[in-house]
Amino acid sequence: MFESIHFNSKGRATTTASNPAVLAKLRGIVGEENVVIDPEKVEPYGADAVKEKFPPEAVVFPESTAQMVEILKLANEHLFPVTARGGGVGYTGGAVPIDGGIVIGTDRMKKIIEINADDLYVICQPGLTTFELQQAVAAQGLLFAPDPASYKDSFIGGNIAENAGGMRTPKYGVTKHHVLGLEVVTAIGEVIRTGGKTVKNVVGFDLTGLMCGSEGMLGIITEATLKLLPMPEATSTVRANFHSMEAACKVLTKFTPEGLLPMAMEVLDKYCVAAVEENFAFGLSKDAEAILIVAVDGSTEEVARSAQMIERIIGENGGFDILRAKTKEEEDKLWDVRRAISPSLMKYGTLKINEDVVVPRSKVPELVARIEQIGRRHDTFVANFGHAGDGNIHVNFVVDRDDADAVARARQCVSETFQLSVELGGTISGEHGIGYVKAQYMDYAIDRPTLEIMKGIKKVFDPNGILNPGKMFV
Ligand SMILES: Cc1cc2nc3c(=O)[nH]c(=O)nc-3n(C[C@H](O)[C@H](O)[C@H](O)COP(=O)(O)OP(=O)(O)OC[C@H]3O[C@@H](n4cnc5c(N)ncnc54)[C@H](O)[C@@H]3O)c2cc1C
Repeated sequence: MFESIHFNSKGRATTTASNPAVLAKLRGIVGEENVVIDPEKVEPYGADAVKEKFPPEAVVFPESTAQMVEILKLANEHLFPVTARGGGVGYTGGAVPIDGGIVIGTDRMKKIIEINADDLYVICQPGLTTFELQQAVAAQGLLFAPDPASYKDSFIGGNIAENAGGMRTPKYGVTKHHVLGLEVVTAIGEVIRTGGKTVKNVVGFDLTGLMCGSEGMLGIITEATLKLLPMPEATSTVRANFHSMEAACKVLTKFTPEGLLPMAMEVLDKYCVAAVEENFAFGLSKDAEAILIVAVDGSTEEVARSAQMIERIIGENGGFDILRAKTKEEEDKLWDVRRAISPSLMKYGTLKINEDVVVPRSKVPELVARIEQIGRRHDTFVANFGHAGDGNIHVNFVVDRDDADAVARARQCVSETFQLSVELGGTISGEHGIGYVKAQYMDYAIDRPTLEIMKGIKKVFDPNGILNPGKMFV
């Protein structure tokens, strides 16, 4: 059988998935119509939110665990790279097949197998969007708490593989805190089951935790058992302006001493405020050097009391023009400002390098002040916003993509920002992961012995290095 040879990003020879015998076998597994090779149709599967293009040789759409097993056995036999893909809205190129091979689209794996309101779990396939799952359980009065801002496009499989965060993290944690068990197909085509249906489970190593954030490098998730909570009766949102970003960020630690645990605490700096106002005319004050948005949930009485306390605490700590939503519509409007930031920042340039560093939240004021200094030192525009309540700041260096010198200066700012985050007790990514985009910076945050253990784990799960090669480790 003819198989052409190419070399992957580590210089290792692999056979190509596009040889006719392999394609025929893939079609036999998933059906003719579920193997796409038309260059125009595979092109969108070669990029994610990073928007750099590495088209795969083929996109394959299985619908069951059994089909996934057959695909991975075939890939291992012929040694072609396999990259799992969810919604394709990752920010670090995780789903991008930089070494070619096939992309496995999980779009057909959308079954909800069980919603159990007594035992508070849902079992589902990985191809549902976060929003679809949230809606399905909400219809039974239940909450799936993780809520990345990309929830309408991101898939449950992608959320687990990136260990996605979101707005509600200060109270509810990140995706891994809501994953009870997983079914995973390993690189050699074996099915493993991790965890189970119970909140407590200490039998053996925590492979469920290991899979969360594993970026499609250890196995492909084919089923997830996820934790549910009762849907809170009420929510309330307060928004306030501040005369400085530092003042807004200093409020973050003022709520807990009064017994409050807000579900969300988001900040945006003056550049974000100006960009959002120019684009969407929300009527934001020109005096606002920063905006803080704080939300609480719980019983109606508890929420009303907490919201009043939050207004008072913000007022006592330099907040002004304090607004509290009275209706769901008003609440959505307060949040619209936050949702509008990312696209609005493109007014400052044609290339936005968006990082998501994280530090202990008491260090956020120092982090943002020193990032501004880094930007000034390298004559590079920077705007900061994000999930400040859990210390996770989205740092945006915005430049003209055709100005090579400006791009190089922005890359230097990124490097210094990563070093700063580690110095302040944090790390280089809070929720977007590493992919290929941040692989070169892994040793800023992880020491050599720990990195070696991670590489060893990768080898155990994927001895031939076919799963998502070129990611996380350089
Ligand atoms: C506008 C916007 C807002 C965002 N907001 C947030 C936010 O608030 N919080 C946050 O955390 N992130 C956010 N993100 C980043 C991104 O949406 C998340 O990382 C999300 O979890 C990616 O999901 P996805 O389905 O698109 O995954 P993809 O991009 O398709 O894949 C991501 C990784 O998961 C792997 N993968 C996918 N499916 C599987 C599977 N079944 N088994 C094993 N591995 C798999 C892929 O190989 C890849 O490595 C945002 C992105 C955008 C564009």
